[in-house]
Amino acid sequence: MKADKFREECGVFGIFGHPEAANLTYLGLYALQHRGQESAGICSSDQKQLHLEKSIGLVADIFNEKRLKRLPGYMAIGHNRYSTAGGSNPKNVQPIVANYSLGQLAIAHNGNLVNAFELRKSLEEEGAIFQSTSDSEVFIHLVAHSKADDLKERIVSALARVNGSYSLLFLTEKKLIAVRDPYGVRPLSLGQVDGAYVVGSETCAFDLIGATYIRDIEPGEMLVIDANGLTSYKSVVTAPRKAFCIFEYIYFARPDSYIFGGHNVNAVRKLFGRQLATENPVDADLIIPVPDSGVPSAIGYSEQSGIPFEFGLIRNHYIGRTFIEPKQSIRHFGVKIKLNPVRELLEGKRVIVVDDSIVRGTTSKKIVKMIREQGGAREVHMKISSPPTVGPCFYGIDTPTRHELIASSHNVEEIRRYTTADTLAYLSMEGLFKNIPDPENFCSACFDNNYPIDFPGQESQLELLF
Ligand code: AMP
Repeated sequence: MKADKFREECGVFGIFGHPEAANLTYLGLYALQHRGQESAGICSSDQKQLHLEKSIGLVADIFNEKRLKRLPGYMAIGHNRYSTAGGSNPKNVQPIVANYSLGQLAIAHNGNLVNAFELRKSLEEEGAIFQSTSDSEVFIHLVAHSKADDLKERIVSALARVNGSYSLLFLTEKKLIAVRDPYGVRPLSLGQVDGAYVVGSETCAFDLIGATYIRDIEPGEMLVIDANGLTSYKSVVTAPRKAFCIFEYIYFARPDSYIFGGHNVNAVRKLFGRQLATENPVDADLIIPVPDSGVPSAIGYSEQSGIPFEFGLIRNHYIGRTFIEPKQSIRHFGVKIKLNPVRELLEGKRVIVVDDSIVRGTTSKKIVKMIREQGGAREVHMKISSPPTVGPCFYGIDTPTRHELIASSHNVEEIRRYTTADTLAYLSMEGLFKNIPDPENFCSACFDNNYPIDFPGQESQLELLF
């Protein structure tokens, strides 16, 4: 199986009981754009049949009034998707819709199934024909192949066969069903607007449409929303532990969201920054973040240390996919297109630069050079608001293979030398766990190689990845 199968990041949104279901789903996806920028889609139901519009591209580019009008009905689900290597495959754009013996079924999935390959093989042997190469389609076939005579039971029997992470939305002609995997790897929240129920990956989607956050969908819980209202089935699948993704707090979720039990992401990131300052003090004139990912922790660092915070790097937020690189090579062009230093602030200064993580190390190296050479800084001290990233993620965060993760084969001093920073410090594991609510419920495999969800054929799959 190809390694890129594991590399998916997504956002999901659903609504039941609203006359503007498709429009609000569009806005929900718009607010969740950071979770996936490759493709997006919305499926609505007018109670008789499902309607689907989806494409490669950003939410605001894909949908216009005309397209949203083709999505009638009071209920809808939507999906944003991002996947790396392998390129954009239009067939993998979600929601995926299929006909089965009980009617029509659409699915939107955030997460990664670790036994998708085996399931797919056995389903194909039973005669299933897959439309896509996405692991999410496995759910559809498992539901279709189940012998149970109602959809809820079919989904339960499908879930019993899958292993991995899933925050999952199903839409039929008459029902919206939301499920979160028993480990609770990815977030999924429930809210309400104008009497309609909404579900979404993050609460920032609720804010945009004026919805009120009610609660998280619990790990292992299935919510069925239909004409009878909302019915909750707890523990339809179970797991030995919870495994909330720690990287949602560090990088992935938006700072204005409340996740994993209603905790604000910005507040947690600021605590990481404060902790980093306590663990790794250094004399400096200025603290600057790598925008946007380093901003809350840089503010926390500044508050704790008393060293002034400034925006010393300016980010261009309007980079299209089609920008043209100059033929003659400009040094560090890749980072330059996104970031530019404010020389006025940096010249002659001892600068602390804060980012959330180092993955391959190439960005940090370019940023340090930029701050020193273009910005004129006297010293550059790099502070990272997470521990060294040593392990790839198999549960839905886009990380490269292990050998590409610089911290998997280099110690902090070697990484410092590579980035050319004067000093480099990471947040400690203890410091990280001290500052997250309910730390025992988290997966931190990317920092400690302790993978909470085993998978069959793990060894051979890992070989392909490392
Ligand atoms: P690198 O050059 O590979 O070390 O990239 C580090 C940068 O990538 C940091 O600024 C992070 O904020 C950012 N980053 C970390 N994880 C991800 C991810 N899953 N997707 C995109 N960017 C990321």
